[in-house]
Amino acid sequence: MPEKRGRDHRAYRAKTAKLRKKADTCWICGEWIDRDLDYRHPMSWTYDHEQPLSKGGKLLGPGKAAHRSCNAKRGNRTAEPPRLPTSRDW
Ligand SMILES: [Zn+2]
Repeated sequence: MPEKRGRDHRAYRAKTAKLRKKADTCWICGEWIDRDLDYRHPMSWTYDHEQPLSKGGKLLGPGKAAHRSCNAKRGNRTAEPPRLPTSRDW
């Protein structure tokens, strides 16, 4: 059975959906976030974890709404789009 990625977890989806409904302002730049944008769009809505997952933060831990690009600029890698496979065949 393929491993389920954490972000597909129902509890996580419910949590982000709840925040997404009420939070439409980026806490980093203060600008409005268009929540209808495709999730791959740089200005799309993302759930920014207060403690990056890469630094031991919990998937369901506290977080705030942010633009994807703003989130990425902060330097943590919690909100990058899925990596495309490389051309190399493993
Ligand atoms: Zn922003």
